[in-house]
Amino acid sequence: MVDFSLTEEQRDVRNAVRSFIEKEVMPFEAEVLRNEREGRPSLEPGVLKELQQKARKHGYWGINTPEDYGGMAVGPVLSAIIAGEAGRTYVPFRFGGSADNILYAGTKEQQEEYLLPTIEGERRSCFAITEPGAGSDARSIQTKAVQDGDDWIISGEKIFITNGNEADFVMVFAVTDKEKGADGGVTCFLVDRAMGWTSDPIATMGEWGPASLHFDNVRVPSRNILGEVGKGFELAMRWIGQGRYMIPAGALGGAERMLEMAIDYANTRHSMGRPIAEYQGIQWHIADSAVELEAARWLTLFAAWQVQEGKDARQASSIAKLSGTTMANKVVDRVLQIHGGMGYTKELPLERWYRELRLLRIFEGTDEIQKRTIARNLLKGHVKVGDSLR
Ligand SMILES: Cc1cc2nc3c(=O)[nH]c(=O)nc-3n(C[C@H](O)[C@H](O)[C@H](O)COP(=O)(O)OP(=O)(O)OC[C@H]3O[C@@H](n4cnc5c(N)ncnc54)[C@H](O)[C@@H]3O)c2cc1C
Repeated sequence: MVDFSLTEEQRDVRNAVRSFIEKEVMPFEAEVLRNEREGRPSLEPGVLKELQQKARKHGYWGINTPEDYGGMAVGPVLSAIIAGEAGRTYVPFRFGGSADNILYAGTKEQQEEYLLPTIEGERRSCFAITEPGAGSDARSIQTKAVQDGDDWIISGEKIFITNGNEADFVMVFAVTDKEKGADGGVTCFLVDRAMGWTSDPIATMGEWGPASLHFDNVRVPSRNILGEVGKGFELAMRWIGQGRYMIPAGALGGAERMLEMAIDYANTRHSMGRPIAEYQGIQWHIADSAVELEAARWLTLFAAWQVQEGKDARQASSIAKLSGTTMANKVVDRVLQIHGGMGYTKELPLERWYRELRLLRIFEGTDEIQKRTIARNLLKGHVKVGDSLR
């Protein structure tokens, strides 16, 4: 039986999250736009922390975090639904109480030192694999770690690292065996900023401000290896895998909200004696957006469901990321167009969304890399056409 309806629990959670976002988070939207217009960060970190604590009081803390660690462990499908609700606002809010999935691979001591304080929001992590010479081709990273007694000496440069300016520790991927490279020769290290790495901000077209990280013979004790020596590349792929359905899930919410804005505007804005909603040119923008939005919704939920069921979700996840992020970029462009000159102003959030959503087609696997994965899986016979029905 195919059942597309939400369970009662999923519906209740979705409604409660929608109501929290509308009552507690959306009221900051005007401030976000005002701050941006005046060249300030959209919201102070303190305000975001307060919002997270407020959400915690409402029971929303650690959406993906296992219950043993004080979280809700709602599973991939409900996580995707919640991400969609949070994505309806352009206030850069995220529920608190979560940590990078690979930190659970740590020893008991590492969990106490890194995982638990990150869940509590007392420490801040960043994930660093990309280098100036290795982005999509992550297998060819050059940053190296050389053993020296019971320590490792790390040298190299990482680039475009989200939270790299704010983080006090990094999960950094370095080559520990050049011969083996990504096939058993890459290791992940937990490295405190206090151990000696430095960062520089990188200005971007959006608010998402990553950093370059510099490792100049940074000495790290062996006990800071996350997982096993040589098994780092698998950890990196596990970290990235999660974003393949959570990124499009968040984009769905923004697209929904923008489509609602487009419908309101089309019905109220008059041109040549009629609401613009009566013109076919505008109707097609709305229809195309609705069709792509619905398609992306089901592809994303399907990928999340596959992960939840423990199935091999790699093909479905690449399809979800490609379709969801392409859809959101097309929708924002059409909705901005429907708003005419107003769409281009900083009075409305559309130009901000336009800039922020553009990133989604680049990080955690570009469009081209998702297409490469999808095509290769088919061409090499890893998946068959129509497999999703089998
Ligand atoms: C704001 C931001 C935040 C980021 N956060 C992080 C982070 O926290 N941690 C981290 O490690 N990285 C992060 N990244 C890096 C991001 O994952 C990379 O930028 C991305 O993987 C692309 O790599 P690249 O920029 O080197 O582009 P390249 O890999 O050089 O690609 C350039 C172009 O060539 C295409 N291309 C490359 N290879 C192929 C191929 N085989 N077939 C077809 N086309 C190809 C690409 O799709 C792209 O269009 C972030 C990036 C940005 C912009």
